[in-house]
Amino acid sequence: MTTGECIFCNIPQDPNDKQVVYRDDRVFVIRDINPQAPVHLLIIPLMHMASLAYVGPGQVPMMGQIFVVAEEMARREGVTISGYRLVMNQGPDSGQVIEHPHVHLLGGKTLPDIA
Ligand code: AMP
Ligand code: ZN
Repeated sequence: MTTGECIFCNIPQDPNDKQVVYRDDRVFVIRDINPQAPVHLLIIPLMHMASLAYVGPGQVPMMGQIFVVAEEMARREGVTISGYRLVMNQGPDSGQVIEHPHVHLLGGKTLPDIA
């Protein structure tokens, strides 16, 4: 998949897109279109990467920013104390659908156990 075909590459192009609830020079955040919890955000790096196999030392600032922003979004959504889950799917066995890195932030209810 090229960046032109990638949905997560195209979303942040419009600076007025109301779907984007946070953006900086490394990552942006949207609400999941099919929420699995009262709070279900996707924290998405601007850089397209078809697989986490491409993560290297050059991606440390980007990957670190995902977690900085995750905590900021959890605070804004009021789930810092109640708790939340960060999930990153990679590859077929994980159920990954969109081949652009993204971290799910889920919270606002007691989440089911995962294997
Ligand atoms: P994953 O299985 O980790 O690839 O998850 C992809 C997630 O993206 C799913 O939870 C979808 O509901 C969500 N999603 C797909 N398209 C959109 C969209 N246009 N806006 C918001 N969320 C989306
Ligand atoms: Zn992409």
